Amino acid sequence: MTLLSGSREAILVDAGFGLEDTAAFAATLTDKPIRLILTHGHYDHILGAGWFSKAAVFAEDRELAQEHSTKFWRERALEEAGRKGIQTDETAFLSRRMPGWEPLGEKEIDLGGLSVRVVHCPGHTDGSAVVYVPERSLLLTGDDWNPCTWLFFPEALPVQEYRRNIQRLLELPFRYVLCSHRRELYERSMLEDFITGLSDETLLSAKPVDTGSWMGIQTVQAEPVPDQCLVFDSAKMNLNIRET
Ligand SMILES: [Zn+2]
Repeated sequence: MTLLSGSREAILVDAGFGLEDTAAFAATLTDKPIRLILTHGHYDHILGAGWFSKAAVFAEDRELAQEHSTKFWRERALEEAGRKGIQTDETAFLSRRMPGWEPLGEKEIDLGGLSVRVVHCPGHTDGSAVVYVPERSLLLTGDDWNPCTWLFFPEALPVQEYRRNIQRLLELPFRYVLCSHRRELYERSMLEDFITGLSDETLLSAKPVDTGSWMGIQTVQAEPVPDQCLVFDSAKMNLNIRET
């Protein structure tokens, strides 16, 4: 999660699992009214929306957010929390109401001295959003990129479509990148090296990798640059990659 706070308003980008009161915690960090934007519909980004009255997500991920709010995914979150020894009120967590999903659009939002540009970047999911903050020269990539990007879920786009969309991000003049699931503030060059390394040759040389037999998908891993990987569904590659 990332909180962006201007002089008038704040935006929380993603809501996490919501095992604790996400809205109350965010309110300890800013005295401005907070609106919630979700980078995509996966349960580890949206379940915390249950602590808010509204949440905005791109229309393409609305159904995914709905599905990832169901008991199946909540129980999965509780299992993961249990493995990490995190306590929560399980009955409340399973029954917490999600807010209505408001449509997110590509737009610039002025928070007062800090602006936020929402960009639709389908890849990790069809409705994936990235957020550009010009005053901080910062790009928030959500799950669309991190040093080990996952593109193998059924809702992920074929790898060459992802590549085309993520290449466009380099038109934005950001210097720093924050992604989900990592604490570090990365330099632009990290993302740039990843994107420029995504050649056809790199993708075609991807090696099988075990992701815990997730839904029986044959996952392969490419290394566009040393120490960074892209894990994707080889079936989607075989169908499409040679056409580019
Ligand atoms: Zn995700």
